[in-house]
Amino acid sequence: MIRQEVNDQLSRPLQDLRISIMDRCNFRCSYCMPAEIFGPDHVFMSEEELLSFDEIIRSAEQFAALGVKKIRLTGGEPLLRKDVPELVASLRTIEGIEDVALTTNAVLLTKQAKSLYDAGLERVNVSLDALDPEVFQTMSGRKTKPDAVLHGIDAATDAGLGVKVNMVVKKGVNDGEVIPMARYCKQKGITLRFIEFMDVGQTNGWEFSQVVSKKELYEQVSQIALLEPVERDYFGEVASRYRYVGSDVEVGFISSVTETFCGSCTRARLSADGKLFTCLFSESGFDLRALLREGVTDSQIRDWIRAVWEKREDRYSELRTEETAKNRNKIEMSYIGG
Ligand code: SAM
Ligand code: SF4
Ligand code: SF4
Repeated sequence: MIRQEVNDQLSRPLQDLRISIMDRCNFRCSYCMPAEIFGPDHVFMSEEELLSFDEIIRSAEQFAALGVKKIRLTGGEPLLRKDVPELVASLRTIEGIEDVALTTNAVLLTKQAKSLYDAGLERVNVSLDALDPEVFQTMSGRKTKPDAVLHGIDAATDAGLGVKVNMVVKKGVNDGEVIPMARYCKQKGITLRFIEFMDVGQTNGWEFSQVVSKKELYEQVSQIALLEPVERDYFGEVASRYRYVGSDVEVGFISSVTETFCGSCTRARLSADGKLFTCLFSESGFDLRALLREGVTDSQIRDWIRAVWEKREDRYSELRTEETAKNRNKIEMSYIGG
């Protein structure tokens, strides 16, 4: 009932909520948390700063009442947080939430896949940028072997979870892995999604020359087999999807740099310390945690979210230049939750 009333008042679609549940990570990917910056002295959030599970659930209930149908847990590395299956189980009971998913580097997935599935998790997106151990280590900034991720993928599939693999491509670093990764995923029947390297945050040294465009990626993947386009499933879907002709295996391209999609962006983000962001490239967020801890009513929280969302005018990817990439105080990906 509440859902219907409030939905009627929202003029901009808000369908997806990404919740970062942990700002720490066991990797130091060069494009996200470069080891030179996120070194041993880096100060992460304290337990007190993180939203508690109760606060996350209460927030998610209000977003659901405003029309959010999908929740994705992310980070940092979400599986570094304790008891994630419990959180998933609670989120699954919220009226209006149709889908709970998780994005992970999969190192801790082997142990947790079954309990996550049993808790009601539908799908995982696993980040894997290379199969070659050296290239993988250069991208991930750690000595971990890609096998740890591959085992996580197998465990997730065996547990019954839907699995997609995300690969960020950096020119001159892992672009030689595009075809091996595409072959591997095709043979396993897993959707691989190539993500153009983005200028999120201020620490990853992004330059346009390091971006491998969707067009270049498409041409490379087409060497394996012909591709045919697949219709979008829903408004706001970010990947352009293709299928290998003669199979039902898909491949996707998330072209946030060369073919922007701000006009159909329906996604809000909640950082691990409870700041609401209306764009991945925002310079600041809105402090939902303060509100939750002030003891306001659910209805006041919904009014507040609605006010933030209705004022939204984000379209950073349409405005991006080398200048904006360098000179804006953009929040880090590991903080905002990818
Ligand atoms: N640690 C988890 C993981 O890596 O899957 C979840 C958080 S991570 C920030 C979420 C996603 O953001 C990953 O798929 C990662 O590849 C992507 N990502 C991070 N930095 C990026 C960048 N600069 N450009 C494009 N994608 C990026
Ligand atoms: Fe960690 Fe994910 Fe960022 Fe890599 S992309 S550093 S795994 S949060
Ligand atoms: Fe959405 Fe901002 Fe990305 Fe545009 S740049 S698609 S508004 S998150």
